[in-house]
Amino acid sequence: MSSVPDNAPQHCPGTGSEDAGKASACAGCPNQNLCATGAAAGPDPAIEIIKERLSKVKHKILILSGKGGVGKSTVTSLLGHGLAARHPDINVGILDADICGPSQPRVLGVRGEQVHNSGSGWSPVYVSDNLSLMSIGFLLGSPDDAVIWRGPKKNGMIKQFLSEVDWGDLDYLLIDTPPGTSDEHLSAVQYLSGAGLSGAVVVTTPQETALLDVRKELQFCRKLGARVLGVVENMSLFVCPNCKTRSEIFPATTGGAAQMCLDLDVPLLGKLPLDPILARCCDDGRDFLQELPQSPAVIQLTQIIGKLVATCEEKSS
Ligand code: ADP
Repeated sequence: MSSVPDNAPQHCPGTGSEDAGKASACAGCPNQNLCATGAAAGPDPAIEIIKERLSKVKHKILILSGKGGVGKSTVTSLLGHGLAARHPDINVGILDADICGPSQPRVLGVRGEQVHNSGSGWSPVYVSDNLSLMSIGFLLGSPDDAVIWRGPKKNGMIKQFLSEVDWGDLDYLLIDTPPGTSDEHLSAVQYLSGAGLSGAVVVTTPQETALLDVRKELQFCRKLGARVLGVVENMSLFVCPNCKTRSEIFPATTGGAAQMCLDLDVPLLGKLPLDPILARCCDDGRDFLQELPQSPAVIQLTQIIGKLVATCEEKSS
């Protein structure tokens, strides 16, 4: 359906266009202000398409962080592996929507795989029988290609990712987003709220400089009506593998995530320790849960997953 109104001036870009109200043809048009604010465009038809596409995905979870480098992608991959390992008949998908730094293909050990596009959409890449991944990383010519995209193109990609991947039946879809609160997050929340967003998991490290940004992230969720399923504090402690001394690499000078969660009345899902073998596994694309199932990090992760599943199930019952 055309978004160009009947009484439009010649060369009208249409109400749905990024140029609506801003193109030279808009000068003098009585609808110019309305179009420039986006109010004339009406609801984006993609919202309905995404709702339909994700109708067989039970829990849709955004993974957010205030800053880059706090371990958001690592936690996403651990949650994916952990959820999939819990039960063979649970299906888990990861959507790597970190458009400027897609790291899931490497972390999950499927770099260089091809995604196939068929009549029913893009097929994700299978990491294991019940864990699938779609990432912008699969669409780049080379893993080192810089992705320097402007806002509209990034939003278009998010829309395409949400509407065109054929996930099949999924119990959990984890969406790894870029750090911060940008236009992409707004788009993702808007599109997903139509499809029934379960909520967000927020990842942080314990120090105040990281928490400062996380408070903004929580505020963002509150404003958009996205439920915070919980906060994961990553790299909380380091236990020396030789002498077993515990050290705080990033000291929680203001009480860490636990105090912040109390102050802001959001659940703390748990704390993950810093473990150099975990970092190595991520670099090599190996499944840390299988490599070190008895490690403190995996024990903590299991508790985090238990809480997350309970929260999601309670919400959907
Ligand atoms: P983000 O997605 O927030 O930018 P990443 O998940 O890419 O961060 O993590 C940044 C780096 O920290 C990676 O090299 C990763 O392997 C490492 N890392 C993350 N969490 C841990 C942890 N708990 N222990 C050790 N290394 C970690």
